[in-house]
Amino acid sequence: MESLKELYKIGRGPSSSHTIGPERAAKIMMERYPTADFFEVELLGSLAFTGKGHRTDFVLQKTFNVDCKVVFNTELKELMHPNTFIIRAYKDNQLLASLTFYSIGGGSLQIEGEEKTPKDEIYSEKNMKEIIFWCHLNNCSFVDYVFAHEKVTIKGYLNKVYEKMEESIERGLQKQGTLPGKLHIERKAKSIYDSRIQGEDNCDLKTIASYALAVAEENAAGEQVVTAPTCGSSGVLPAILRFAKEKYHFSQEKIIESLAVAGIFGNVVKTNASISGAECGCQAELGTACAMASTALAYLFDLSLEQIEYVAEMALEHNLGLTCDPLEGMVQIPCIERNVIIALRVLDLVELAKLFTNSHKISFDMVVQTMKETGMDLSYKYRETAEGGLARLKDKII
Ligand code: SF4
Repeated sequence: MESLKELYKIGRGPSSSHTIGPERAAKIMMERYPTADFFEVELLGSLAFTGKGHRTDFVLQKTFNVDCKVVFNTELKELMHPNTFIIRAYKDNQLLASLTFYSIGGGSLQIEGEEKTPKDEIYSEKNMKEIIFWCHLNNCSFVDYVFAHEKVTIKGYLNKVYEKMEESIERGLQKQGTLPGKLHIERKAKSIYDSRIQGEDNCDLKTIASYALAVAEENAAGEQVVTAPTCGSSGVLPAILRFAKEKYHFSQEKIIESLAVAGIFGNVVKTNASISGAECGCQAELGTACAMASTALAYLFDLSLEQIEYVAEMALEHNLGLTCDPLEGMVQIPCIERNVIIALRVLDLVELAKLFTNSHKISFDMVVQTMKETGMDLSYKYRETAEGGLARLKDKII
């Protein structure tokens, strides 16, 4: 598995596969072909179907330092990866080079014909079973596991990640008005945050909801967020961490450690299944975000290795089958509200993991595999193409 730096990326929304990934690809092309005076980008698969709503063309045109043309090719459906795009570099109308990229989720890329090298693999363990075995063998925690494998710089990086998460909450809580796009959705984070009354039953609910909304609304507006594990699902983990930090007074150090724990679980899903809505539906994005945030909170509450693994398993299991069907191809409906719902679910999952200890029949690794198989079985309509499900209601919204 790769470094957590490859999981937690700081970048602009609204969709890591559609914005951060193509932006990184554009930078690779400019670095490799500095003499190019024109680029053509051909978007295929889900990128072509939802690239407009996800603002892929806008990001590409902003990133390239010379002219660029973006073509949306919705014809090809049999692709190596549902988020495929080709970038062609030209000089004086002559083709210099053409590279095929796969935007594999969370802003990560694969370039056709360029396999990953072993040096990219920081962790030799391949799944959660092996990680837990390593922890028992060395008598240590998930946090020790991460810090033993990553370079020391990871602590500084995770601090920066948390800082950016808090910034996105702060910015989102200050803004009002309508989000960009045809759906004319009003931002709600600030009004919900301001309506809280300390001591009232629903104060915690409003706090978590407003934090998750703040980030999800910032993401929908194309502002900076942290992939956790993706842009579309970026509201859940920051909401839980900030809430826990304030309510239970956890130290900054412990919050950073919980980010490391959450990262390991996200990494296992990314490595053995997918965190891409285009590949496996929203179960891969918000299902994984639910698992990550649940493990972070479970770690903060001092649950055991097995209880933390159990909460991750439950979190992913009960999001199996969740489809990706955003209206108008924008990361707004159902995405923004779904970040809130999933964040609220995290509190119950952690309490249930304490109650259900020792009744565990299915492992996290088994659910990760099931999620992958379920995702592969989903019709393309439910994998970020905006062709089915809720997306079909776009002309009927009230
Ligand atoms: S429905 Fe889920 S997977 Fe699809 S764009 Fe929205 S957040 Fe991402």
